Amino acid sequence: MSLPQQVLTSTPCGEKRITPANDSIQLSRREFVRRGALGAVGVGLTLGSGAMMLGQEAPATPRVEKRGDMVYRRLGRTNLMVSELSIGGSPSPEPAVFTEALDRGMNFVDTSAGYAGGEERIGEVTEGRRDSVIISTKCFPYRMADPTAGVIAACETALGKLRTDHLDVWCIHGVGAPEHFLADPIQAAFEQLKTQGKIRFAGVSCHTDPVRVLIPLFESGKLDVAIMAFNVFSGNTVKPEDVKAGKVYDNWLADSGLQSVLDSAKQHDVGLVAMKTMGGGALQKPDAYQADGSTLAQAKIKWVLSQDAVATALSEVLSYEILDENLGAVGKTLTPGDQALLREHVRERSASVCRMCGACQRACPAKLPIPDLLRCLTYRDLHYKPAYARQVYREITAAGPLPACGACTACAQACPHGVAGPGKVEQTRGVLA
Ligand code: SF4
Ligand code: SF4
Repeated sequence: MSLPQQVLTSTPCGEKRITPANDSIQLSRREFVRRGALGAVGVGLTLGSGAMMLGQEAPATPRVEKRGDMVYRRLGRTNLMVSELSIGGSPSPEPAVFTEALDRGMNFVDTSAGYAGGEERIGEVTEGRRDSVIISTKCFPYRMADPTAGVIAACETALGKLRTDHLDVWCIHGVGAPEHFLADPIQAAFEQLKTQGKIRFAGVSCHTDPVRVLIPLFESGKLDVAIMAFNVFSGNTVKPEDVKAGKVYDNWLADSGLQSVLDSAKQHDVGLVAMKTMGGGALQKPDAYQADGSTLAQAKIKWVLSQDAVATALSEVLSYEILDENLGAVGKTLTPGDQALLREHVRERSASVCRMCGACQRACPAKLPIPDLLRCLTYRDLHYKPAYARQVYREITAAGPLPACGACTACAQACPHGVAGPGKVEQTRGVLA
């Protein structure tokens, strides 16, 4: 059963009008109910409303629209309807693949000034079809002498590269504390840019410790969109005591506090974008179909999208084959075969995958940014992006050289997954400094 034509042909970006925050939320709730009913009847998707465990069926909580082969979800209070699979990562796809992705219904694209081929390529591809694409990009204001002027100048630069007169979502990149977004000079920049119509919504990306960073931002009422690292390893682990038995523990979402982040996003109607959705392994290569017709990549996407707090899953679509593979997960539910595949993957990789929870950093007497350093190693060694790894390392160390690791093992003791350890910091420094 398809949706009524006026819904199918409405702008892919949803309502374009910017309404006062309270109106927006009230409207969005009415719209949520209407779209939810349509989704329940017309789409028949099942989206989990709580922690989705491997082996559990997701309860139905529809808040979706289907248009053609793509499924769109509401991006929180923005009321934008975003494709549940979207384009992100660095580098950006080649223009031909990018255009194909847009033609096939992907309408949300996230980038950053620092991403290879990022804003310039998006500007090139979206020029002439700007109204059907929702663009999110970011700035990195941490060492700006005048953050208000710096964030405004960065936005002007992004607008030029993106060949547009407005950004749909303008983000602070990699917030590590609530004040990175809430500080008065940053808020002043966002207010001015919103007033001038240069940005529509305010966002952040958060790599580390989302429980402590994001929940206060959601509660502040000032944040519209959060881009958060989120993948099957966010909800599943092999505890150190279970390594020998290879037992996968699948209630980690609740135990880690991430479930409270998802719940808070829903409660405060903040649009949640999942990044690092392929976490856990090497750069994606199209896979042989397996396990009930799904690949591991498709199972990972389905796991992320089984959380109804998530509006869209970012993916790097670096080839037609990867695009095809990822689109194969759209509108599909997690099957027992997918769950078995994911369980095996978690069993194999758990001790190598940093969940970016920040526990090691909090325990480290030198306060070394261990999760960010591990991220650099992943970019370099698993994703074969040495230049990007060096760039992120430079950003981490821009304020000055990092203190030496005292080899105290506090990080190893704090890490619930057996990932952190004394050698990691020096290894990163050795190859990237
Ligand atoms: S071993 Fe090094 S990185 Fe780990 S907690 Fe101690 S000082 Fe920090
Ligand atoms: S190394 Fe372990 S403790 Fe540190 S952020 Fe990653 S998962 Fe958390």
